[in-house]
Amino acid sequence: MKKNAFWTNLIFIAVILAVAGGLLAYRALRPKADASTLEAQLTYGDANTVMEIPLDQDAEYDVDTGYYTIHLRVQQGAIRFVDSPCPDHICENYGWISQEDQTAICMPAHAVVMIVSKGTK
Ligand SMILES: [Zn+2]
Repeated sequence: MKKNAFWTNLIFIAVILAVAGGLLAYRALRPKADASTLEAQLTYGDANTVMEIPLDQDAEYDVDTGYYTIHLRVQQGAIRFVDSPCPDHICENYGWISQEDQTAICMPAHAVVMIVSKGTK
């Protein structure tokens, strides 16, 4: 009886670990899959200049919007505002965005970052 309980527990733990491992693998692989079909679109300044930013390579971008020079960081298929010179820093609080239609906005710098499908104008 005691031995049966041991094996039941062991199998239970193995199943839990397998499910958790599968979820972790799914989460780890998903940003890569998204990065191949999604890109960030930065719209900035009074002229609504559009800049397309690839998400499949880690990089930093410094963009003079005409109000502030904003800094965007791309990492593992996600993008965010970093070290923003704006007074409110609300843009930094958006954190990493990587899913389609997610946005991060810096009002003082007149800059909007949106995740879109590649080739969307
Ligand atoms: Zn800001």
